[in-house]
This record gives sequence, structure tokens and C-alpha cells, in this order.
Amino acid sequence: MASSGAMDKEYANLVAKIRECRECPLHKYRKNAVPGEGPLNAKIMFVGEAPGKQEDEEGRPFVGAAGMLLTKLIEEAGMRREQVYITNIVKCRPPGNRDPTDEEIRSCIPYLWQQVRLIKPRVIVALGRHAARILFEKAGLQWRSMSQQHGKVYNAEIEKIPIKLIATYHPAAALYKPALREVLFEDFRGVIKKVYREVQRAELGGKGRPRSLLDFLSSKPSQAKA
Ligand code: URA
Repeated sequence: MASSGAMDKEYANLVAKIRECRECPLHKYRKNAVPGEGPLNAKIMFVGEAPGKQEDEEGRPFVGAAGMLLTKLIEEAGMRREQVYITNIVKCRPPGNRDPTDEEIRSCIPYLWQQVRLIKPRVIVALGRHAARILFEKAGLQWRSMSQQHGKVYNAEIEKIPIKLIATYHPAAALYKPALREVLFEDFRGVIKKVYREVQRAELGGKGRPRSLLDFLSSKPSQAKA
């Protein structure tokens, strides 16, 4: 395992690279690239689609209206925002908040895989169908639709790291469609909270029979796998 000094250095290099990146045309429109934020030992990673206006201004992920909702959801699941790592599929804002193109995603996605290799989260939550499609594809899992697959736990492997992968709706979608708000809260209060607790318990060795993280990660999905 890399020492924390070496890890900090690799992460700082990665952030600098993202901030200066010119691999796709999005760099021409940005004020700031948005690499992501959170502790490097975070057990859970949230992955959105791409920065919006506020995020572009501040160089930080999920700091606008959708971000406020995400922070609330994270707290509903029994975590604090400072304990989790938050990033996006694409690190620069697409003009007018359009969806990123496949080409832009292809250029940018190696940064996310490097973040996963460094942080080694136990759980990844894909926020919205774009993030879900990319993460499911990477894990070799079939992605059909958010309505069918949100709130289910998939045992996955990403960059050779065993991960519990969960998809849920994008918080911005719930701002436009209030009916989704309750579904989103249910996913966070229910499955995301439960899986996060299991991870914490596994890290501590559990109370009763000690259970290794490996046991936990190789256990059956808590809901049917696709
Ligand atoms: N929407 C996203 O997908 N990511 C952000 O960082 C902000 C809004």
C-alpha cells in the first residue's frame, strides 16, 4: 500500500493535471476545472455527471442547488459531507450545462479511474443515468434504466478494486421533478445508509463474529443483481 505521503503527492499531481488539462474542447469554456473533493481515505465516493455554473466558478463539485440537496441526502444517510469523496465523470463544465459528449467523456474518464485507484472506495454511488451508464459499463454490468436499477447494490470490480456499486437519481433531477425527491431520499435513507454502515462495521471488525472486509465485499448483493 502506498504511504500517505506518496498518496498525497500522487493526488496533488493528479489535481494539478486536471486543472491544467486541455485534452478536450471543454477547457476553452471553463473558469475552473473541478477535480473533486474529500478525504483520500473516504470509504464512499459519489460520482455526478459534470460541473455546473457554480461549480465552475468555485472549482468545487456539487456546490450549487443540486449540491445543497446532495449534502442533505448524505446527512440523511448518516454521514457528513467531509467524510465522503465527491467527483464527476467530466471535470469541466459543458457550455450551457449540456450533456458531455462521448468524446469529452472518453478524454476525461482516465482521471476518474485514477481517483478510484488512489482512493480505493468500498462503495461508489452513481448520481444520475450518465454516471451510472459509464460506471456500469466499466464494471461489465448491464445498464438498463434508472427506474429499474436505482437503489440496488451490485458487487462490482472497477480498476481491480472490489466495490459496491449503487445508482440513484441525480439530485438536480429531483429539483425539477419533486416526485423524485422522495425516491432519492428513500435510496439514501435506506440502501446507501445500510451499505455504508456495513462498510464501517467491516472496517472495525464487527461486534459479534469478526468479519473481514473481504467477507463483506464478496457477500451476496443485498438486492437482486441484474
Ligand atoms: N451536477 C453534477 O453532476 N455535478 C456537479 O458537480 C454539480 C451538479
